Amino acid sequence: MESVETPASRGRILVADDEPHIRRILATLLEEASFEVDQVATGTAALAHLEADTEYDLVLMDIMMPGATGLDVLRGLRELDHRGSLPVIILTAKGQDADREIALSLGASDFVTKPFSPKKLIARIEEILNVA
Ligand SMILES: [Mg+2]
Repeated sequence: MESVETPASRGRILVADDEPHIRRILATLLEEASFEVDQVATGTAALAHLEADTEYDLVLMDIMMPGATGLDVLRGLRELDHRGSLPVIILTAKGQDADREIALSLGASDFVTKPFSPKKLIARIEEILNVA
């Protein structure tokens, strides 16, 4: 007997970036790879989502955002008991090496330099979430 498979979600991802076109590219890419995506444009909104919603599997986050930066969000995440081990991939521009070091010390899982390779990004997410 044949079964009809509906594409199941492979995980819920929060995308935080202040540039609309980057969010759009990331959301499209992730949804095509069967991930569920929520998008926010600020670090403040990212932290609010992560405080309110315990069902995220991973965060894909820009550092340079107005107001609360990605680094501020990483610091804030550490204060949340239930989010302590949440994987966070940081999106950086070239030449932000100091930010990378700080993000690593704050528990970031990995870095992706913009412009990023869509294939490599998805592969890294699959690896982190163990859904490859
Ligand atoms: Mg930015």
